[in-house]
Formats: sequence, structure tokens, C-alpha cells
Amino acid sequence: MTNDTVTPDADLALIEANIRDVPDFPHEGILFKDITPLLNHREAFAATVDGLSAPYREGGVDHVVGLEARGFIFGAPVAMALGAGFVPARKAGKLPANTIDQAYDLEYGTATVEIHADAITPGSRVLIVDDVLATGGTGRAAVELVHKAGGTVVGFSVLMELSALRGREKLPDVELHTLLSV
Ligand code: AMP
Repeated sequence: MTNDTVTPDADLALIEANIRDVPDFPHEGILFKDITPLLNHREAFAATVDGLSAPYREGGVDHVVGLEARGFIFGAPVAMALGAGFVPARKAGKLPANTIDQAYDLEYGTATVEIHADAITPGSRVLIVDDVLATGGTGRAAVELVHKAGGTVVGFSVLMELSALRGREKLPDVELHTLLSV
């Protein structure tokens, strides 16, 4: 099912056709949305980067924050398309210099995301990018990280929303842009 109003329907259909469902990965009961066929299809990959960037072309985005790991793959070309810098938000312990961090809840336990403390200029406009919005925990943590760094979140651009997991309810204060909703 598609729900983007900016991207042509033919592009959304091409994107959707190149996302592979893998049942029971990485755990039984999870239907994994595998984007590797999409990355390897040049028109579908280009249409995805266009679609994720389109609403923000006039928005004066200073930084794009990509969420490890698949948010890096989409976030970097989105940053290029918008003339913005790219900031990787990584799992704890991966970034070499001083960081700021934000913990969030998982189904069992907690996780932490980090960015470099000097990566986001206070007062700057930030777009967050990821491949899948599931429960919204990762996205919420990224929004809090940007706020801690003194940035303004202008949007959260996501390839696919798994709407049954109601992640958008964790992001009521964020302009959420999703290309596909299933
Ligand atoms: P969440 O914090 O629950 O919104 O999960 C979002 C993160 O987990 C994203 O970075 C996704 O890459 C990944 N993710 C969660 N569920 C899936 C799924 N069914 N298929 C692919 N990736 C997923």
C-alpha cells in the first residue's frame, strides 16, 4: 500500500516491488523487510532517494541524520540531494570522538544511539532518515538526540511504515513522511 502524495504512483509501485519479505528473520514471527533488492535496482534506488528528499527540497535542511545501519545507505544520498551534511547516528560505542547519547526501550532491555557531540550545529535544521518505522523507539531516540544537540527536527523521512506497530504514535510532534505504509 502506498501513502505518499509527492512521489509518482509508478515509482512507488517500483519501490514496493523491490522490497523482499523474509519471514522469521531475525526471529520467528518477524516479517523482515529486505531492501537489498531495491538498492541493487538503479531506478528503484534513485526513486527512493528522490521520494525521501522531495518534500524537503525547499526546506533549508542543514544536516541529515541517518540511523544505523540502513538509514546510512539512504541518508547519505538524501543529504547530497538536499545540499546538507550527513550525520551518522550509531549504536553505542562505535563513534570515536565525544558523543551525546539517548537510550530507548527494546522489547527486551534497552539500547542506546549516539551522535558526535559536535556534529549538529545548535539552531540548525535536521532531517532524520531511516528505512523502516516499526515501533518508533529508534526514531523517538533520534529526535531526542537532535533536540539535545540544539537542532530542530524538520522531518522524519522513512521508506516504509509498519502501521500495525503504531510507531507514529511515538512521534506526534514530528512531521513524518513515509513512502509506503503496510
Ligand atoms: P523501531 O525502533 O521498532 O521503529 O525499529 C526501527 C528499526 O528497526 C529500523 O532501523 C529498521 O531498520 C529496523 N526494523 C524493525 N522492524 C523491521 C522489519 N520488520 N524489517 C526490517 N527492518 C526492521
